[in-house]
Amino acid sequence: PKPNIAIDGPAGAGKSTVAKMVAKELGYLYIDTGAMYRAVTLKALREGLDLNEPVSVGEMAAAVSVELIAGDDHNLKVLLDGEDVTEQIRSPHISRNVSLTASIPAVRKHLVKLQKEMAKQGGVVMEGRDIGTVVLPDARIKIYLTASTEERARRRREELFAKGYHVDQEQMEAEILERDRIDTSREADPLTPAPDAEIIDCSSFTAEKVVKMIKDRVLT
Ligand code: C5P
Repeated sequence: PKPNIAIDGPAGAGKSTVAKMVAKELGYLYIDTGAMYRAVTLKALREGLDLNEPVSVGEMAAAVSVELIAGDDHNLKVLLDGEDVTEQIRSPHISRNVSLTASIPAVRKHLVKLQKEMAKQGGVVMEGRDIGTVVLPDARIKIYLTASTEERARRRREELFAKGYHVDQEQMEAEILERDRIDTSREADPLTPAPDAEIIDCSSFTAEKVVKMIKDRVLT
């Protein structure tokens, strides 16, 4: 069977770009687990739930349907209870709230179960925060991508700009650092490199270079 590839790291390190390219070049399935936490966050906000209230958000998450459908060019479509929310989940408002949702153990438990199921057949490139540590501890290839805060904020601003949002550099750096702080300090499955992950600092490599490094590991 084809191996699974786990790609973890903080926001804006280039995980999505690299994971999509690897999936495309190897003919693997790309799975963005952050999109699942974003979809649950969207539903919680729509329902007016308090994200500091783990019981109600956890119950909602256990009953929600989140599907990732392969779209054109290895882009994923995200369906929340059947509704296409691909664009909506990328808004700055969701980005500011998603780490709170993701710190709720019941939410994680439910989504991790779905993610393990998706990778059962192998041949998956899965990106997130806890893939190498919790979701796919047996993945043959584990990569932890990082980059400087400045570079990560710059990339996120460019992505948002293309979608019509303006966020200034200083504010973006502050938001990214706050998300890192919550992601690394939460009790359930905190963001941390798996002991057997290869740590790659993307500030000094192009995406193509990182993709090549990962492909070399798969093919040897
Ligand atoms: O990757 P993305 O920025 O879309 O992830 C959004 C948020 O979802 C992260 O900041 C983190 O709080 C949460 N997340 C997580 N575990 C994952 C993927 C994402 O906690 N495997």
